Amino acid sequence: MHTPVHYRIVAHNPSAHLFEVTCTIADPDPQGQRFSLPAWIPGSYMIREFAKHIVTLAAECGGRAVPVEKLDKDTWHCAPCAGPLAVRYLVYAWDLSVRAAHLDVTHGFFNGTSVFLRAHGRERRPCLVDIAPPSGDAYRNWRVASALAREDAAPYGFGRYRAADYDELVDHPVEMGTFALATFEACGVPHDIVITGRHDGNLPRLCRDLQTICEHHIRFFGEPAPMERYVFLITVVGEGYGGLEHRASTSLLIGRDHLPRDDEAPVDETYRTFLGLASHEYFHTWNVKRIKPAVFVPYDLSREAYTRQLWAFEGITSYYDDLALVRSGLITIESYLELVGQTITRVWRTPGRMRQTVAESSFDAWTKFYRQDENAPNAIVSYYAKGALIALALDLTLRRETNGEKSLDDVMRALWQRYGRHVLGVPEGDIERMAAEVANLDLAPFFAQALHGTADLPLADLLAAVGIQFQLRPAESDSDKGGKAAGKPVETLARRAVLGVRLAEGVEAKLAHVFDGGAAQAAGLSAGDVIVSLNGLRATRASVDKLLARHRPGDRVHVHAFRRDELMEFEVALQPPPADTCVLSLDAAANPGQQARRAAWLQRP
Ligand code: ZN
Repeated sequence: MHTPVHYRIVAHNPSAHLFEVTCTIADPDPQGQRFSLPAWIPGSYMIREFAKHIVTLAAECGGRAVPVEKLDKDTWHCAPCAGPLAVRYLVYAWDLSVRAAHLDVTHGFFNGTSVFLRAHGRERRPCLVDIAPPSGDAYRNWRVASALAREDAAPYGFGRYRAADYDELVDHPVEMGTFALATFEACGVPHDIVITGRHDGNLPRLCRDLQTICEHHIRFFGEPAPMERYVFLITVVGEGYGGLEHRASTSLLIGRDHLPRDDEAPVDETYRTFLGLASHEYFHTWNVKRIKPAVFVPYDLSREAYTRQLWAFEGITSYYDDLALVRSGLITIESYLELVGQTITRVWRTPGRMRQTVAESSFDAWTKFYRQDENAPNAIVSYYAKGALIALALDLTLRRETNGEKSLDDVMRALWQRYGRHVLGVPEGDIERMAAEVANLDLAPFFAQALHGTADLPLADLLAAVGIQFQLRPAESDSDKGGKAAGKPVETLARRAVLGVRLAEGVEAKLAHVFDGGAAQAAGLSAGDVIVSLNGLRATRASVDKLLARHRPGDRVHVHAFRRDELMEFEVALQPPPADTCVLSLDAAANPGQQARRAAWLQRP
């Protein structure tokens, strides 16, 4: 048994946003010990170079300084010493996202990937972590929330925690402060809800609804749950939305309005969004934290880990997140169809879907999906959104081709049994092979089109088989996300004149995206241009729609716009709006067979 790697992290100076961390190795590498900080965090596929936030770093052994040489952007080499070797460093923590670390006088939060150096060659050793509060009376009431196992720390207390190895250490984010805390059990597993930030959410309601979701997912894969406890770490801000999955917890950043205030009221749109996010991250406890790409076993956090499978790990998870809400009765079928209609709309409004496959989108996530620029809608497709539609199409295909005997549910459970339970990585192509094997079908043509092709999925046919009508119509306005019937007849919508752009947030009519084949692009307008007038009338973000409403498709309008500081004039031939907005509805004329298939798909198992 090797001696553990010991870490001590202190919320050293909250006003300066500095954690102080000490990593001690009893028996450092005789050739000189190397340390690295990860370049990325699992679940967020982008090189983030967390080491840039290390402000100072020094090493000592037996009271004497040890020379340290920096080898590259995130690796340090300590001169040979007999040990124990202690490396002490300050980490600047001022990133209020789920991906990094944040410390101020109100709270502290960190992911291990931002604060814990990896001792090369010692990755498999157990880790001990002492977590200490800032000093001073002001912090007397601070507590700790994390799914890290407690060594001698009291529940929610500062003190000593432990992890089996480095991989586990950095997969348990830690929150400290005066958070709100609520608890519930799901299938016998204790769950904590930890909320940081001012909020007026109804905690009993939240517990009840999250319990419903958690029990649904646990039973989906089969009891017992793979974790001993689970923690929802929630940061509430004015406006925000994001989540990151971990093996026994999740970090969520949400807007204040996302939390429910009422005990009984039906799930509204914002709360539905929150429940979908929580459901998504919780499903990841199985799909990606345990059923995971082979290239993630183990993670190499020093460089990009390329996989063509993110469509499955994010797309299938995105499919089941909302599906769980309707199957567990939290939302109605109509509400669920609205969400699916919105996802279809998002994909159908992306010209890039005709250029990039989801396999390519997964592979290039590091440089494209995670680093989207103004041309992204024309060049790429989301492996989340299209991946979710592939999961939907696959599920409905399996159900149809096996007369309801098999579904994607069976494929996921088979993946769990074969790979997830033992955390064996899934080789490229095995999800496709597993689906074919479970359903005893030749799915090669399906996957060739869905994963490696760019043609639209045959969703209208597949949905018709379960008594759901698929319709495409023009958007009603720029804020029309789809999913709902329009307030006006389609003929009226088709008379709306459009520019083929998406405007940036703000007061000005600044072009965020210019769509391929659209009127603006044809006239020479570019992303970044600021439109200041249309046919001589002043244009702002708020007034563009109103100005366009004076025209019909085919009209030519004079547009003045600034490109950088140069005023330019364009003649734009306005176009009709594309029919890219999807509405799904229950087919009132569905026959009993269609109704039965729909019930088998959407109702509680
Ligand atoms: Zn996800």
